[in-house]
Amino acid sequence: SAAAAALGLAACGGEGAGSTGPDTEAEPSDQTVGVAMPTETYERWVADGANIKKGLEDKGYKVDMQYAQDDIPTQQQQIDQMINSGVSALLIASIDGASLSAQLDNAASQGIPVIAYDRLLTDSENVDFYVTFDNYKVGVNQANALLYGLGLLDAEFEPADDAPENPLNVELFAGSLDDNNAHLFWKGALETLQPYFDEGTLVVPSKQVDIEQAATQRWEQETAQKRMENLLTTHYNGGEELAGVLAPADPLSRGIINAMQNAGLGPTLEEGLPVVTGQDAEIASIKLIADGIQSSTIFKDTRDLAEQAIVSAESILKGEEPEANDTETYDNGVKVVPSYLLEVTMVLEGNYEKILVESGYYTEEQVESGQ
Ligand code: BGC
Repeated sequence: SAAAAALGLAACGGEGAGSTGPDTEAEPSDQTVGVAMPTETYERWVADGANIKKGLEDKGYKVDMQYAQDDIPTQQQQIDQMINSGVSALLIASIDGASLSAQLDNAASQGIPVIAYDRLLTDSENVDFYVTFDNYKVGVNQANALLYGLGLLDAEFEPADDAPENPLNVELFAGSLDDNNAHLFWKGALETLQPYFDEGTLVVPSKQVDIEQAATQRWEQETAQKRMENLLTTHYNGGEELAGVLAPADPLSRGIINAMQNAGLGPTLEEGLPVVTGQDAEIASIKLIADGIQSSTIFKDTRDLAEQAIVSAESILKGEEPEANDTETYDNGVKVVPSYLLEVTMVLEGNYEKILVESGYYTEEQVESGQ
């Protein structure tokens, strides 16, 4: 109706001539939400997508969801198509956060609100909202899990009384540089580890301590495995002992563990496998944690993130302001994007049952089979 269109315009706050804004009185059943996802090679994005789709459909919305196989032009095309087909809102988990400016401009000119999902969309003013986890804290938790695994922190995460006296050798891995999250994970982890480097408790024999050196393009498991193989043959060929590795995501952790085991380390933590951290609580890694092989991971409940994304989208579609709990952290280069951050949980051999099995996230059978 004309009245609804006028309302939509008003709610949009004059974001440029010609912009119609969302029809704030439209029924969910008349609205399609476009959902752009990066890849299916990481379990979490499959779960995120399924949770978002079901959540939106349960509320009556139609959903156009596309995965882009980690290929940037594919994701650009998918979003272009969603805009052309007249979606009412976009939820975007980008591959490269800075690669979608043209799409975001186009969406804005059509009055289509955009929510960045888990990964920040950068270098654009046309991002309305951001839902994610506390990415800095992910890094802090990864570093603390590493320190705990190395015996430097006790079960209360206080400095351990019987901490090892000799310097411990560690190596550092980061995620993909085009993913803003990778920088925050790294920052949180490195700021936590820095005192240990300063006092000489931890040493990085490869000296690869910059994020550029540690990065894993597109978060590919094989890339991390190869880098670990190289590190072992180059810097640990004279009897040097590797104590631990900061790894930012479970598939990378498993690649790193493969490289170690292939080089004859372990095969378990008890038998001398270095401590390896992780992220995402992927089922294959939970099995490794249960089996005493991977040391830790970080659980991010994607059910909650999907729900938060939907709540935020609904607010925007109704012409309301979505609830933010952080309006300072996520500067995308052009503006600070109002955000809603969720908490994360460190998972170790001692608590995976409680956190993941008793909560119903995984069954005991899944943990046993790793699938
Ligand atoms: C996500 C992580 C994930 C990584 C690789 C990051 O943006 O926050 O949960 O492990 O991408 O897919």
